[in-house]
Amino acid sequence: MFQPAATFLTMSVSSLISYATKLICSNGGSMDYRELHRLVTHYFNDSDNVLLKVLRNKTRFVVAHGKKEQASGDRLSPTCKIFAKTSLRMCKVYPNGSCDNCRALHLCKYFVYQNCLYDNGRCRNSHDLNSDHNSPLLRYHHLQDLEQTELFQLLMQNDVSLLPEICAYYNKGDGDYGSCSFKEKCTKLHVCQYFMQGNCKFVLKCKRSHKCDENTRKKLEDYGFGVKLIQNLPLLYQNMNGINSSSH
Ligand SMILES: [Zn+2]
Ligand SMILES: [Zn+2]
Ligand SMILES: [Zn+2]
Ligand SMILES: [Zn+2]
Repeated sequence: MFQPAATFLTMSVSSLISYATKLICSNGGSMDYRELHRLVTHYFNDSDNVLLKVLRNKTRFVVAHGKKEQASGDRLSPTCKIFAKTSLRMCKVYPNGSCDNCRALHLCKYFVYQNCLYDNGRCRNSHDLNSDHNSPLLRYHHLQDLEQTELFQLLMQNDVSLLPEICAYYNKGDGDYGSCSFKEKCTKLHVCQYFMQGNCKFVLKCKRSHKCDENTRKKLEDYGFGVKLIQNLPLLYQNMNGINSSSH
């Protein structure tokens, strides 16, 4: 986990936003309020109220309350979950077309997955966060201080285009393929969408797949995912679901 030098204690809202984002992203993209509060107040004196103010910034954080928790007044429940959010996205056209005044990152998708086979300067697509195109965007979104892995975590849990789609038809109807007419040829994932979002109430009795079988693994590899990312996939869907379901 990321730990800053204990010496920087000057605090402003923007430095606290950056610090909290770094902490959350290095912790897998989400964190209990209790833990975040502990780490933040450890390094920033008197940061209690500022932290609350910072977490109300809905463009940067999502606060998700459990069923029994409610925010009481100005306080947050220690067990509520905080997700890191951004409106920065990957360009949908790059590298296959041209885009004018594009406000999205021009990056190799496999680089973001940390699984590019050409990650030694030989890739034709950009691996450069400091390029003339990417660097101003990162600064505009105040993400320039994130480590690569922290930034990639943030992007993957916010940008729907970076995660493979779960087949909605597989999740409807009965049988091995649900109501998916593509069956084994379907390119979308045949897994329980509720399990992936961390809220399948059927647990062991669920009729949909709760595991990454050979077929799913193959689809994920074709998509560009490596072993580590495949293991982290449920967490990414859970974070994305948390961000999307609480943000409106
Ligand atoms: Zn673009
Ligand atoms: Zn690449
Ligand atoms: Zn399908
Ligand atoms: Zn299930």
